[in-house]
Amino acid sequence: MTNIPRTHPRYNSLMLREKISYAMKKGLVHETGLIAHGRGEAFDYLLGEKTQPFAEDAEKVAVAALILARNPVISLNGNVVALVAKECISLSMQVPAKLEVNLFHRTDERVKKLVNILESLGAKEVYGSHADARIPGLNHDRGFCDKEGIFTADTILISLEDGDRCQALKDMDKEVIAIDLNPLSRTAKTAKITIVDNVIRAIPNIEKWVKVLKKKNKDELKSMVNSWDNNKMLKEALNFISQRLEKL
Ligand code: ATP
Repeated sequence: MTNIPRTHPRYNSLMLREKISYAMKKGLVHETGLIAHGRGEAFDYLLGEKTQPFAEDAEKVAVAALILARNPVISLNGNVVALVAKECISLSMQVPAKLEVNLFHRTDERVKKLVNILESLGAKEVYGSHADARIPGLNHDRGFCDKEGIFTADTILISLEDGDRCQALKDMDKEVIAIDLNPLSRTAKTAKITIVDNVIRAIPNIEKWVKVLKKKNKDELKSMVNSWDNNKMLKEALNFISQRLEKL
């Protein structure tokens, strides 16, 4: 990786770019993953590169949904593995939830590489390489998933997801939690709970809330999930961005 001086004012952001670009060179991230990262960066800039209160609220509710789930799955793509592989593994152990590599631009080789990396970092079982089931309504290889993983999950945490697949998962009656920095994306509008935050902050924050909310009783958690108004939160995120722009 390129040597970025720590004193650079954009050190953290540049390091993330380095991670994504390195992962692309290693065949873990598809080239379009770089473009997706750039769009995310732009929205993160508008959001002040901090977890805003509406994201913190969504993270809490997401945790309530994950704890209540019968069969929760965390879906991982190349960008997510490049940025927060260890954090996702740790979260999966805390919930507990299954991990599945699920790619938009799927190749068996890339799935295998991502599964291997996750296993080398301590993941016990990673789904995604069997591809023995299909998400109905999605043509092309992006519809493949594991029967034991995403196909039979009741709750699924997706990040940097495509709107079509988010809708197809929702059509399968799954509770979809999405991490997406763009509050205007189809995914953000389709998910039941959208976390408008960067995965690098969202995943550790979600884990922090797992430890807290595991002590609550189920009725309390159910009422958090049932009273969640995702559209209201998306409006808050957009208002936040527009007010911030007005002040700058
Ligand atoms: P949609 O189909 O939902 O409208 P899209 O086509 O705009 O989505 P994709 O390129 O499929 O977007 O997915 C990338 C999404 O992930 C973008 O909305 C981008 O803002 C978001 N994103 C990129 N990097 C991050 C990140 N590090 N953390 C959270 N979200 C991110």
